[in-house]
Amino acid sequence: MSGQEIGWLLRPREHLSLLSTRRTTIIVTRVRLIAGLFAVFTPLWIIADISAFPSEVWHGLAAARLLATAAFVAILVSAKSMDSIHNAYRSLAMLLAVPMLFFLFSYQHMAQFELHGFQAAFSTGYAFLPFVVVAGLSIFPLTLIECICYAAPMLALQVVAAALRWPVLDWPTVAASIWLLMLITAVSALAGLSQLAFMIVLVREAIHDSMTGCFSRHSGEELLELQFILAKRSKASLSLAFIDLDHFKQVNDTFGHDAGDAVLINATASIRDHLRMGDMLIRWGGEEFLLIMPNTDFKQALAALNRVRKSGFGKRPDGTPVTASIGLAELSQQDTEHWRDLVELSDNRMYQAKESGRDRIVAGN
Ligand code: GH3
Ligand code: MG
Ligand code: MG
Repeated sequence: MSGQEIGWLLRPREHLSLLSTRRTTIIVTRVRLIAGLFAVFTPLWIIADISAFPSEVWHGLAAARLLATAAFVAILVSAKSMDSIHNAYRSLAMLLAVPMLFFLFSYQHMAQFELHGFQAAFSTGYAFLPFVVVAGLSIFPLTLIECICYAAPMLALQVVAAALRWPVLDWPTVAASIWLLMLITAVSALAGLSQLAFMIVLVREAIHDSMTGCFSRHSGEELLELQFILAKRSKASLSLAFIDLDHFKQVNDTFGHDAGDAVLINATASIRDHLRMGDMLIRWGGEEFLLIMPNTDFKQALAALNRVRKSGFGKRPDGTPVTASIGLAELSQQDTEHWRDLVELSDNRMYQAKESGRDRIVAGN
């Protein structure tokens, strides 16, 4: 994994939109699955409570169970069509809050009664709820920070619950339960991180062209749309360069397709060597690339492209340099509402570069 991808494992900042969308879908689907299961099993367990406890114990529990069931049904219904990660966070927080509130109530409720033997053993099940909830975090593809944020209230609640029953508890038992909760949190975090790592790899493979490692056309269009909206909203500059390798067909015809592939890989590696963090290189077509340069004005973009040209696009198998025709367009030059117009402008300029002799940049009319 790259340094950037390791950063994505730790915190949700700067996640690619494709990763956020997939994560939102998975979190919401699983929240609904768990809410649905709990909406069924929470009221069913009233039967077990009735057979285990005297009426003064199970009455209160049954009322709490019915309330919790209503909350699970509400989560199941309201989490139906969520499209932003913040909505997914909220639905997961609600899902976790219900058993925690139920735990707070049941723990206090049971403490009022002197239970012995089987009833005492049965009632300890209620004290395990925080452990079940923290273990349940493991089914969500969360970053480390997110996992800590969700587990922290449960750790705090365990401390509060212990404080409420302090007179009848000894400190080693309390310390051991908190320690165990922390260990389960760590295991859940690892499980969540490994799911997220797997997703990052899948997303990486889905959005990149496998041969050159550039963004694929499909994901590139998504990225470009996002950058276009961001640049428009913040009135920032955005430069696009359309890069087409010159006489590339000759390379294939003379040296074979495999040699052509090697030249393509080399050329993209050379371009990428000169990019800034945040610049994005998209394989737009066979030997055509679109370079997105956010927050880069026309002059800066031209300087960057000249640096790329100076170091070259690699060599053909016979040692002659590979050249490219480049069309540059900047957002402030084109008052348009659609990113496609900006691509079209850079594409037209690339054709002008071809027509005027290739191996050059055309940056204006
Ligand atoms: P121009 O200077 O006008 O751009 O000429 P050109 O030969 O580069 O342009 P043309 O569009 O005629 O040919 C592009 C060639 O790129 C044709 C196609 O076989 C080749 N090509 C496209 N994708 C790949 C690829 O993945 N690998 C290889 N080896 N060749 C490819
Ligand atoms: Mg070409
Ligand atoms: Mg071409």
